Amino acid sequence: MPERYRCAACGNVTRFDVTATRRTRAFHHYTIGGDLTVEDTEVLEERVESVSCRWCGSARAVEALVEGDDAAPAGEAPA
Ligand SMILES: [Zn+2]
Repeated sequence: MPERYRCAACGNVTRFDVTATRRTRAFHHYTIGGDLTVEDTEVLEERVESVSCRWCGSARAVEALVEGDDAAPAGEAPA
């Protein structure tokens, strides 16, 4: 499940600029001519450094939505 965010300043829940560092492993598939197709990218590690609101530009007001929050899609029963 990808992390979801909400901007407390303007109410935006759909547009964010996310700066992150990722460590990935992928299958690099070359043709004999040297053209590259990257396949099966697997994220081994991901560190989100900052999230800013695309609407109002605020970085401080953006908060992560907790799973089970009212805004999250239903489907999973509480433990
Ligand atoms: Zn905002």
